[in-house]
Amino acid sequence: MNRSTSEHLYQEALQHIVGGVNSPSRSFKAVGGGAPVFMKRARGAHFWDVDDNRYIDYLAAYGPIITGHAHPHITAAITAAAENGILYGTPTELEIKLAQMLKAAIPSMDKVRFVNSGTEAVMTTIRVARAYTKRSKIIKFAGCYHGHSDLVLVAAGSGPSTLGIPDSAGVPASIAQEVITVPFNDLDSLRAALEHWGEDVAAVMVEPIVGNFGMVMPKPGFLEGLCKLTRANGSLVIYDEVITAFRFHYGSTQTYSGLDHHEAITPDLTALGKIIGGGLPIGAYGGRKHVMEQVAPLGPAYQAGTMAGNPASISAGIACLEVLAADGVYDEMERLAVRLTAGLQESAGRHGIPLTINRIRGAFSTHFCDHPITNYEEAQDTDGELFASFFRHMLDRGVNLAPSKYEAWFLTTAHTDADIDATLAAAEDSFRAMAAE
Ligand code: PMP
Repeated sequence: MNRSTSEHLYQEALQHIVGGVNSPSRSFKAVGGGAPVFMKRARGAHFWDVDDNRYIDYLAAYGPIITGHAHPHITAAITAAAENGILYGTPTELEIKLAQMLKAAIPSMDKVRFVNSGTEAVMTTIRVARAYTKRSKIIKFAGCYHGHSDLVLVAAGSGPSTLGIPDSAGVPASIAQEVITVPFNDLDSLRAALEHWGEDVAAVMVEPIVGNFGMVMPKPGFLEGLCKLTRANGSLVIYDEVITAFRFHYGSTQTYSGLDHHEAITPDLTALGKIIGGGLPIGAYGGRKHVMEQVAPLGPAYQAGTMAGNPASISAGIACLEVLAADGVYDEMERLAVRLTAGLQESAGRHGIPLTINRIRGAFSTHFCDHPITNYEEAQDTDGELFASFFRHMLDRGVNLAPSKYEAWFLTTAHTDADIDATLAAAEDSFRAMAAE
C-alpha cells in the first residue's frame, strides 16, 4: 500500500508540531516508528488517507465516534449551531437539554457542569472532592488513565504506558505524593491503602469498567466493595466514565445490566467526555447536589471555561445521544463485535498465535498472550512485538486500529457485516503472515 504522501506530510509536520502529532497516542513510536497515516476524509465506518487508501476504522477517534463518521443527524446539528453563532459566552437553552439527558441516563448526577475535555472533567471532580471532604489524597488504580492533569499522571495507562512514561516528568514530587496507586480488581490492596492513609483520602478514583489497559470488567463484588470501603472512610467515590458512559448501553456503569447491585455501585461524582459530545470537544462532571454545590458560583471550588457548553459541542452531543437512544442500536453493535471477536480468536488459533480478547458489548481489546487480563500487570505482560506486527499487517490490509497494545477496538452504529467479513479476511492474512515471520 503506497503511503508516500503521509510520509511526506509527516516529515513536514515534524518541523512544526512537536513529534509531528497533537496527541502522543497518534504516534507510531510503539509499533515500529515511522509516519502515522494522515487521513483526509471519513464517512461511516471508513477512512480515506491522503494517498486515497481506504481503511475500515475501529479507532472511532479513541471512542467519541460511536455513530460512525459524519453521521448526518450530527452533521446537521453542528451546521445549525454554526449558523446561529458559534460561541456566546452566555447560557443557552441547549445546555439545559443535554444536562437533562445526562441526568435521566445517569441517576447519581443531580447537578452537572460542562467542560471541554475528559481531562478537565476528571481534574475538577478531584478538586470538588477535596473541597467537599477537606482532605487532599487520592487513590487511583494502576493503568487507569484519567487525562493529563498532574495528579493522575502517576501509573497512568494506555497513552503514557505505550510510550513508557506512566509517571510523567514535570509532575512535582509534592503532587505525586498526594496520589496512592493500587492494583485494579484488588480490594485487599484498596483496604490496606485506606487503612494506612485514612482521613487524608479525599476520593477513590476509578474507571469502573476499564478502557485504558484493554477493556477490563470489574470482578464480581469489586465495585460494591470499593464503594463500601471508600464511604466507610468518609471519602468520595469518583467514576471516570469518559470512555464507558453510553458505550455499552444508554447510560453509565451504575445502571449497566452486566453488573448487579446498582444501588451499591453508585458513585458520588462522575466524569464524562467523548461520546457525550458526538465528536466535538466536550467533558462534563456531575454528582450529588450537596457535593456539586461546592462549585462556583455556589461554592468555594473554582472551575470555569470560555468554551464550556458551547452550542456546537452541546448540539452534537444531543444529536449523538438521540441516535443512541433508538431501539436495538447497542444490540447490533454487540452482534457485530461477537462475530468479529469469534472470528479473530479462531483465526489466531489456526495460526498458533496466542490471543486473549476481552469484549464488553460492542467494544473489545486484543492481547497477545495466553493468560486472562484482569489488571494492569497482566496487560503489560503481553507481547508488544506481536501486537506491532499485527497492527502493521492490518493497516496494510486497510484496517485502522489504535497504535497501542492497550487500546480498545470500538464498533460503531455504522459498521456492517461486510466490514466484519473484510476485517476477518485481513486478520486471517495477517495472522498467516505473522506465523511465517
Ligand atoms: N478519562 C478516561 C477514562 C479516558 O479514556 C480519557 C481519554 N482517553 C480521559 C479521561 C481524558 O479525556 P480527554 O482526552 O478528552 O482529555
